[in-house]
Amino acid sequence: MLTKKIKSHLDKKTIEQIKKSLEERKKEIENELKKITKEDKHEREKHKTIFPEFGDKNDENANEIASFTDNLSLSKSLNDTLRDIKSALNRIKNGTYGICKYCKKPISKERLMIRPVSSACIACKKKLKGEL
Ligand SMILES: [Zn+2]
Repeated sequence: MLTKKIKSHLDKKTIEQIKKSLEERKKEIENELKKITKEDKHEREKHKTIFPEFGDKNDENANEIASFTDNLSLSKSLNDTLRDIKSALNRIKNGTYGICKYCKKPISKERLMIRPVSSACIACKKKLKGEL
């Protein structure tokens, strides 16, 4: 295992700023998730989407399903974002934040300011999408 620390091109103040906004976003998302999911005690970090109970009438049942489907896709995207935020926070902790996971080159500060969870530089992202 490589233990060599990669020197970040971002100054401490910028990283602190990003870290703060990531942590705030994380809290928001966790609150959102709490509203529509319940924690599964057997699996840590796993959240189950709550199936709403509006009533037993046909239209109520239809609404339950519609609402559940909405919550399901919402909780999926919230969980995805949460995962990105957590891994970005981990990279800050490990001192690898702002380094492209593919080419190991620094990701531009402008990109990180717009999308703090970025783990790849624009060139690699384009390559992945087949745009280059
Ligand atoms: Zn790259």
